[in-house]
Amino acid sequence: MTEQESSSNFIKHIVKEDMKNGRYDEVVTRFPPEPNGYLHIGHAKSIVLNFELAEEFGGRTNLRFDDTNPLKEDEEFIASIKEDIEWLGYEWSELRFASDYFDEMYRQAVRLIEQGKAYVEDLSQEEIRAYRGTLKEAGTESPSRSRTVEENLQLFEKMKRGEFATGEKVLRAKIDMASPNINMRDPVIYRIQHATHHNTGDTWCIYPMYTFAHPLEDAIEGVTHSICTLEFEDQRPFYDWVIEQTDIAAEPKQIEFARLNLTNTVMSKRKLKQLIDEDYADGWDDPRMPTISGLRRRGYTPEAIKAFCREIGVAKSDNLVDVRMLEHFVREDLKLKAPRTMAVLKPLKVVITNWPEGEIEWLDAEINPENPEMGTRKIPFSREIYIEQSDFMEDPPKKYFRLFPDNEVRLKHAYFIHCHDYVKDENGDITEIHCTYDPETKSGSGFTGRKVKGTLHFVEASQAKAAEFRLYNRLIDDEKSGDDFLDFVNPDSLEVTDGFIEPNMADVKPHDKFQFFRHGYFNVDPYISNKDKPVFNRIVELKSSFKL
Ligand code: ATP
Ligand code: MG
Repeated sequence: MTEQESSSNFIKHIVKEDMKNGRYDEVVTRFPPEPNGYLHIGHAKSIVLNFELAEEFGGRTNLRFDDTNPLKEDEEFIASIKEDIEWLGYEWSELRFASDYFDEMYRQAVRLIEQGKAYVEDLSQEEIRAYRGTLKEAGTESPSRSRTVEENLQLFEKMKRGEFATGEKVLRAKIDMASPNINMRDPVIYRIQHATHHNTGDTWCIYPMYTFAHPLEDAIEGVTHSICTLEFEDQRPFYDWVIEQTDIAAEPKQIEFARLNLTNTVMSKRKLKQLIDEDYADGWDDPRMPTISGLRRRGYTPEAIKAFCREIGVAKSDNLVDVRMLEHFVREDLKLKAPRTMAVLKPLKVVITNWPEGEIEWLDAEINPENPEMGTRKIPFSREIYIEQSDFMEDPPKKYFRLFPDNEVRLKHAYFIHCHDYVKDENGDITEIHCTYDPETKSGSGFTGRKVKGTLHFVEASQAKAAEFRLYNRLIDDEKSGDDFLDFVNPDSLEVTDGFIEPNMADVKPHDKFQFFRHGYFNVDPYISNKDKPVFNRIVELKSSFKL
């Protein structure tokens, strides 16, 4: 590890010191998602951090589903989370569920009661809040606080047996109602919730609170470095308190880091779910979503996502990362991997009037000039081709270097063509362009007779294959204003067009990735694409003003 590496990741530095001082024998981390939604790019930051930290020090990482809330959790989410982590390329050491430890957590809670360190509370939630005090004022002790151990044991047993209604009683840790840290003022550690749990069914009607369960889960698994986001910093004293009280021989250490925030993106699962529920997105894996599954469907690669997560570093203060930085990494990754080909997204027919009818010439082209090992491909050229509608103007402004009446342009991999006529329909729309080609100007022939300013791409008409293109814009428009994040949703985040691809792409498969000349990088959609009409998601455009 270099100086620079340890300064861009302060946690690495802590772990290194701990190992040097012999505090732990092995580095054990965990990634602990709550299965209440799909993973997003923020989770990827945590996944990369946890798995790569353990890997670097020869340790291991558990995948642990933090399923202590029976109301929101679901098997669908569990399956998707596993799939996403595997797709990113990480192997967890053990797969655990917090709910596997409910017996042990219950035992720990009983131990606390026996030691006079926990009590059953009769006060309502509002009363508990009112007794808690403020940052300036100490809290007030609840009348329930003076219950005997015997009475507490009996009441907790009754809570467990289901003799009370949801919310009627809770179990609280007995710490210090005057603590300057409000989280230490007798926090609730167990609550009653009559609900069926996805894993334990109806076995339990009491569930541990997250803040009590988490340190126990870490201790049970022998986790050494329990990495979480900054909002848990104030919980650390309680985390340490729970660890001190247990009879489990492990000393995990909680370390907080800043969560990832991205421009033009909402990141919380709750908000992402709202986008789906209110029909702004088509599901968790909509290619516009910042979920791992959405990014995958869009065409992002694990390598690009991981390179991005490593580059943003791990810090202690909140920051906002430009989403264009994420895009930069997918371009970098695909630059040498993706075959380059031509696609016309919004076609306009061009007739080459001096080209013989029915004759096709097969031109040679490199598949990726930056990576010659990818070989060459054949591109047809004939009397009828398609260009982009936006590449012709009847009456162009200055500095328009594409096709217009009496102008000449170069066709990529083919010839110069000169426009001498065009046809309009009854609505005044241009339907066909008439050009002549110059045989002297063939690409690769070394022709230097004259220069042209514009180079257009094209697809030959008789061999062209129909395709659909899905062009995405930002789902969230940071420039808009409003009180609710839904006010920031961009209504024009998806544009679907019908066009053509080269015939050598007839057999594209889901997740095949291409660079379409001038248009950007595209991914074959894994769900809606089909043999007759492939569907391409635009991953990212070619150019960006972003500089790393
Ligand atoms: P959300 O608010 O999106 O539901 P969460 O923090 O509740 O996120 P969990 O399922 O509890 O989600 O998260 C699992 C792990 O991922 C936690 O350790 C959490 O700290 C981490 N994590 C979640 N969001 C981010 C983020 N934006 N940046 C970095 N880490 C994150
Ligand atoms: Mg959460």
